[in-house]
Amino acid sequence: MLKEVGGVCIQPRHRASCHCGSVELKLELPDGIVDPRRCDCSLCRRKGAVVASVPLSGIRVVKGGECLRLYQFNTHSAKHYFCANCGIYTHHQRRSHPDQYGYNVGCLEGVNPFAIPDVPTNDGINHPADRLGV
Ligand SMILES: [Zn+2]
Repeated sequence: MLKEVGGVCIQPRHRASCHCGSVELKLELPDGIVDPRRCDCSLCRRKGAVVASVPLSGIRVVKGGECLRLYQFNTHSAKHYFCANCGIYTHHQRRSHPDQYGYNVGCLEGVNPFAIPDVPTNDGINHPADRLGV
């Protein structure tokens, strides 16, 4: 977990938004930015976003829910949401942990995702769920 990024303290209640501002999320981040990472799967390698985790109860869409579009592929178990207007990925329900959302750290207000040191890249080519044969 990470409670401070580049000198900016992560507030337990945080706002996130897409680029055009149509979509706004409210996040509960009592533990800061949990498990920041990138992923090299076919989708994430195209997005390049730094992603962190919250329980499903930790994200509330407060504005622009009607602008969110859902994208699914492969097993169609993960749900990837993005703004229909500006195209920015905001969050997704995870395949490996369906009880969690991953969210785009770059959408957090006041947080520079590139100021997070040593962000690992997960092996999304060999997804954990594939390795288990699920
Ligand atoms: Zn937008």
